[in-house]
Amino acid sequence: MASGKHIPCGTCMFGDVSKDAWRWCTNCEEGLCEDCEKVHRKSKTSRNHQVISIEDYRKIENVSISQLCEHHGENLEWFCKSHDEVLCVVCVPSKHKSCSDVIPIIVNSANSRQSTALSDLEETIDGTLRNVKQCIKNRESATKEIEKQELAGQNHGS
Ligand SMILES: [Zn+2]
Ligand SMILES: [Zn+2]
Ligand SMILES: [Zn+2]
Ligand SMILES: [Zn+2]
Repeated sequence: MASGKHIPCGTCMFGDVSKDAWRWCTNCEEGLCEDCEKVHRKSKTSRNHQVISIEDYRKIENVSISQLCEHHGENLEWFCKSHDEVLCVVCVPSKHKSCSDVIPIIVNSANSRQSTALSDLEETIDGTLRNVKQCIKNRESATKEIEKQELAGQNHGS
């Protein structure tokens, strides 16, 4: 799909009306026209959806899921609106912790709520931290082991 093309309102399209979207819902993965956005915001099921401007959507629409972060090699699954950057799961907590406008690019079409995505993220961070701690521990005991061996070697020599 060439960018610059008009993005249709998904809701209107469903009713056979062709109208340009001016907002994009990342949860529904659908465009919204002004009228439909109002309804979207009021509706109980879609009230908490992350709705972004079409401008922001254009920035992320070409980011493919398989694209990896050049710094961390993780999937680019987040977008920081303040920095105008696509981010991986490592970038978010390291550089964009205080950014309030970090939104998920890929939301499972099963309407997974943002809170689920966030708690998943937290779990991933927890897991990473645990791994790092374990790594440090392993290295410490390895160093001790080497020291012991060196000591033993010295005793034998003298
Ligand atoms: Zn509409
Ligand atoms: Zn929605
Ligand atoms: Zn990264
Ligand atoms: Zn940021």
